[in-house]
Amino acid sequence: MPTRPIVIAHRGASGYLPEHTLAAKALAHAMGAGFLEQDVVLSRDGIPVVLHDIHLDSTTNVAQRFATRARADGHFYAIDFSLEEIRQLQVHERSCLDASGGEVAVFPGRFPLPDRFTSDAGLFRIPTLAEEIDLIAGLDRSRNCSTGLYVELKSPNWHKAQGQNLAGAVLEVLEDKGYADRPGQVFLQCFDDKTLRHLRHDLKTALPLIQLISENDRGEDSEVDYDYLQTPRGLAYITSYADGIGPWLAHIFKGRNEDGTACLSQLVAQAQAQGLLVHPYTFRRDELPEGITSFSELLDIFILQAGIDGLFTDFPDIVSDYLQQHQDRLLV
Ligand code: CA
Repeated sequence: MPTRPIVIAHRGASGYLPEHTLAAKALAHAMGAGFLEQDVVLSRDGIPVVLHDIHLDSTTNVAQRFATRARADGHFYAIDFSLEEIRQLQVHERSCLDASGGEVAVFPGRFPLPDRFTSDAGLFRIPTLAEEIDLIAGLDRSRNCSTGLYVELKSPNWHKAQGQNLAGAVLEVLEDKGYADRPGQVFLQCFDDKTLRHLRHDLKTALPLIQLISENDRGEDSEVDYDYLQTPRGLAYITSYADGIGPWLAHIFKGRNEDGTACLSQLVAQAQAQGLLVHPYTFRRDELPEGITSFSELLDIFILQAGIDGLFTDFPDIVSDYLQQHQDRLLV
């Protein structure tokens, strides 16, 4: 029987409110997500802030507020702004267009997705990691529960090239807030194997680490070969420093067999056989993989058939309802 997977609110309840806003995190908390995701980059003054991209183009009004501050490549990098400046920005729903109407490359798909929250009212700001932890800890107290953090270190090698130490700065905040020694309540995730090995072997973190798996042509901030990581030998390598993997949906769901059943790769079984957790991304009701006709079918395939251990979703309420409905078919 498959296990009941953990529900990770991907950038908060980002199906309903702009990603990585405190509102999206509070909503995910109220929806009962077990873990809330934080993508983290640093400000110019080295403060960890919760933001998905290393630049501010796709989710803020930076081009209007600080029109002259783009680099030569046209991007407004978070690391070029002090926290005080970042606090002046308004956050909006993710867009494919920057403020001057130019195309911003995003993966996957087109943004904004239809039927998502849109408003120009300037309601939201970029939180620091410390502020977000304060929000979660406060809600845990008032709602009498214990919600996990799921922190991603974004582009650590790029930060290093800019003279900043992302892993060190994130661990410092976690220590400060009393979360550095709560291995049941905090995961750290990264696309770069060297950063995870550094966290495990040099910084000696007690927190579980998740190796995210991408595609080699997606320009991730790592030299690792993602094809290799999905092989039994690659998975054995991951066990030397991490506790699980975060693969893309398409690394597991390979389309349809001739009889119409789902064709699955061996990745989940092979990773679990080596003791690794499997937490794939991203489960979106409004962006289904090709060949899948409904969100519940997507959940059936990954949860009941593939037997994943957790999932990143923009819609934590729908996944929680699904798990409730299928509880007799899942091990707790
Ligand atoms: Ca992430």
